Amino acid sequence: TLPAAEAEAQVRADDRAHVFHSWSAQGLIDPVPVAAGEGSTFWDYEGNAYLDFSSQLVNLNLGHQQPDLVAAIQQQAGRLATIQPSIANDVRGELARLIAEVAPDGMEKVFFTNGGADANEYAVRMARTVTGRRKVLSMYRSYHGSTATAISLTGDPRRWANDGVDNGTVRFFGPYMYRSAFHSSTLAEESQRALEHLEQTIQLEGPNTIAAIIIETVVGTNGVLIPPPGYLPGVRELCDRYGIVYIADEVMVGFGRLGEWFGVDAFDVTPDLITFAKGVNSGYVPLGGVVISDRIAAAFDTVPFAGGLTYSGHPLACAAGVATFEVFRRDGILERVRDLGSRIVEPTLRAWAETHPSVGEVRGQGLFWAVELVRSKETREPLVPFNAGGADAAPMGAFAAAAKKGGVWPFTHFNRTHVAPPLVITEDELVRGLAVIDEALTVADGYTV
Ligand code: PLP
Repeated sequence: TLPAAEAEAQVRADDRAHVFHSWSAQGLIDPVPVAAGEGSTFWDYEGNAYLDFSSQLVNLNLGHQQPDLVAAIQQQAGRLATIQPSIANDVRGELARLIAEVAPDGMEKVFFTNGGADANEYAVRMARTVTGRRKVLSMYRSYHGSTATAISLTGDPRRWANDGVDNGTVRFFGPYMYRSAFHSSTLAEESQRALEHLEQTIQLEGPNTIAAIIIETVVGTNGVLIPPPGYLPGVRELCDRYGIVYIADEVMVGFGRLGEWFGVDAFDVTPDLITFAKGVNSGYVPLGGVVISDRIAAAFDTVPFAGGLTYSGHPLACAAGVATFEVFRRDGILERVRDLGSRIVEPTLRAWAETHPSVGEVRGQGLFWAVELVRSKETREPLVPFNAGGADAAPMGAFAAAAKKGGVWPFTHFNRTHVAPPLVITEDELVRGLAVIDEALTVADGYTV
């Protein structure tokens, strides 16, 4: 093996010369070469350790190199490394059964995909087929993936350059108490007014033209927006009233992030389709899918479903998924997420809202929290403008640099930092990481007015 400095130089050189990166101007980036990862930590070639408060892209729920997942993949590779999707396969069937067992009642079937975006593509395709309608409603402030329909559903600036790719999508405002689009002063008002706005959108677009409404059960990248009581059940009612399919995008929150198998369990609602990816096997091998209600599944009993992927239900990915269920149950992962979230994260973040002039609001559940940074608590002006880049984003850049210097890899998006560590993070690591973020917030405080 090469000495660290040479190995790092080689990784950097190959990357800069040949790897074309997502979402980036290729000449303006300098990706960090990572040498190794273990649990909640990864290391660069200089030996700097980063406690990952972002779980990579909020997918690494069981941390790096989880031994049971690694062994399951190795054993499956030795047994049967791949088999095409029209074949019945043991691990594929076992994982589908395990998922159906924890999904809401009346959702017994799973269509496997390679990730989250294609899960949403196929959920929409199912909805369009069963309703014979074309439009899909999605929220401003949402992310649903980057393939054609998924990016068109997305309600954040990543969509702008892709507008019109699927022109059957229409957006609406969801509840967001801190920056209410409805001038609400209570959660009950916010919920009711957001539902009235959604119903008006349905009526003005034409109920008979709308196949589906897609909602992240808790909005993820765009702000950890927890739906107020009654909102999601209200969406369910509207979908029932107008014959619209309710798709819950649980790509980010499914499989433990909120301390539940599926986020909908926390909000007392049963959608028609649930999309998942990321946490299903912590991304060790790409995997996503759609959990399908019995009613929608029945529509395809005699009519073929027009869709598929070569790697649908890949055995290596499914083996890692089956092992994920074993680890969750053996190690009480859901219970520890609820415990660490309510006992450590919530009180610590609530204290920041008191002590830091830059912290406008904190919100979240389980191990999924947002800290919203502002110039002034009074005006709630965001610490950096919406979609800020370059010099405008400097305050968030300075905050992130301070966190990294302290050994924590933070998640940042616009004027927020999220706390979303691996669900296996130890209590010591969590407390240490939160202390680093606390300190880094003093840098953000320096930009308040
Ligand atoms: N939906 C949500 C809520 C997501 O957070 C993401 C990814 O971040 C996606 C869909 C897209 O998933 P993927 O990147 O696996 O295609």
